[in-house]
Amino acid sequence: MEIFGDMGELAAEKHVEYILSVEKKKDSFESVVMEHLRMNGAYWGLTTLDLLGKLHAVDVDQIVSWIIKCQHDSGGFGGNIGHDPHVLYTLSAVQVLALFDKLDVLDIEKVSTYVAGLQNEDGSFSGDMWGEIDTRFSYIAICCLSLLHRLDKINVENAVSYIVSCKNLDGGFGCMPGGESHAGQIFCCVGALAITGALHHIDKDLLGWWLCERQVKSGGLNGRPEKLPDVCYSWWVLSSLIMIDRVHWINKEKLVKYILDCQDLDNGGISDRPDDAVDVYHTYFGVAGLSLLEYTGLKAIDPAYALPVDVVNRIFIGRQSKKES
Ligand SMILES: [Zn+2]
Repeated sequence: MEIFGDMGELAAEKHVEYILSVEKKKDSFESVVMEHLRMNGAYWGLTTLDLLGKLHAVDVDQIVSWIIKCQHDSGGFGGNIGHDPHVLYTLSAVQVLALFDKLDVLDIEKVSTYVAGLQNEDGSFSGDMWGEIDTRFSYIAICCLSLLHRLDKINVENAVSYIVSCKNLDGGFGCMPGGESHAGQIFCCVGALAITGALHHIDKDLLGWWLCERQVKSGGLNGRPEKLPDVCYSWWVLSSLIMIDRVHWINKEKLVKYILDCQDLDNGGISDRPDDAVDVYHTYFGVAGLSLLEYTGLKAIDPAYALPVDVVNRIFIGRQSKKES
């Protein structure tokens, strides 16, 4: 970190303790709030641990058997045991199993049939059987099927043309055709286009300009014009800029400093803005953002799959690369 001078450091050990403590405090307020999306919480927390090199601190068998209990006959996963299935939790379940190299516990045919069944005629995706449509679900479905090597189960061409139909004049993307550009939505659309090899549909300079304009004076990034900066946009904006090869357009040092300023140095965890309360979600996005910024001591994260690069390589290149690295 010498190049960034004296700007404080990542309290890695504290963040590991924080993540592990959240998992143990099952009756805490945060845990009750998180109850229905514990699967997402597991993904955020465990990916953070992996990026910090501490995934071995958890009980793999216990987590894997809990994940299996969250699966429904349809093949989809709920956010917790007994909760309705949704593509959001299904991707998180697949990502957590990928972290542990346990994808082989899945009936891949069944899971991929569930996800592929959510595609609509026009190429869009619904999030669950209730039918809400959003480009977020396009990304989630495409990412999930790609990790399972089952992209052939959907109409990729229609999926891409639906996403392209959500592109705006400012170069960004919305949740549906005509929807306002938003950094979270842009990540989803750029990520889906990256995974399907369709980034040529993006005007990289125009979108890169919109994205780098998200950096405010404090160094943090916001999600839309006139909004406050928030650590989670370190992920949505940065990953998009990396995928379109325009990350050099923002001030990296200032962003690193902003994320480090959002740490709770006493109890661990990262918040959305300096001095706010920490949570697992922002802790993950802060650490993932620092990983994208190549912060020393963190594993590299893949900007499209939102998983550590070594995990993605294991899935797409095979075990050989793991032994060699
Ligand atoms: Zn946020």
